[in-house]
Amino acid sequence: MVSHLTQGQRALLESALIRRQHELDRQLVEHQGGLSRAEHAREVLSQDSDDVSHREAERELDMAINDRDLGELGSVSAALRRLKEGPFGLCADCGDEIAFDRLKVEPWALRCVSCEALRERAARA
Ligand SMILES: [Zn+2]
Repeated sequence: MVSHLTQGQRALLESALIRRQHELDRQLVEHQGGLSRAEHAREVLSQDSDDVSHREAERELDMAINDRDLGELGSVSAALRRLKEGPFGLCADCGDEIAFDRLKVEPWALRCVSCEALRERAARA
């Protein structure tokens, strides 16, 4: 399957994906400070504080951020794999080519704009 993307466009998307992957990796490591999630939680809870609920909330936020980063990291890695093994840049739903303008913003996009819009509408319904 020949991609509609030029060599230059693919190279550009690949470097964007790798950059994002490194960013996310760093964020996750910084966030956890090398500790597992459970250890991290215990450590936060054992710190003396007269504002327990505030710390609880911070901990929740930490985890939400981690989950989001982990999810995005998965999408980024999957996109890199597709870029190497193909097909890349084809909509998972309708098989149409995903516009390069869209991939520039979101290189890990799985669907074309119209299918993405359809899904969002379906999710809200
Ligand atoms: Zn589509």
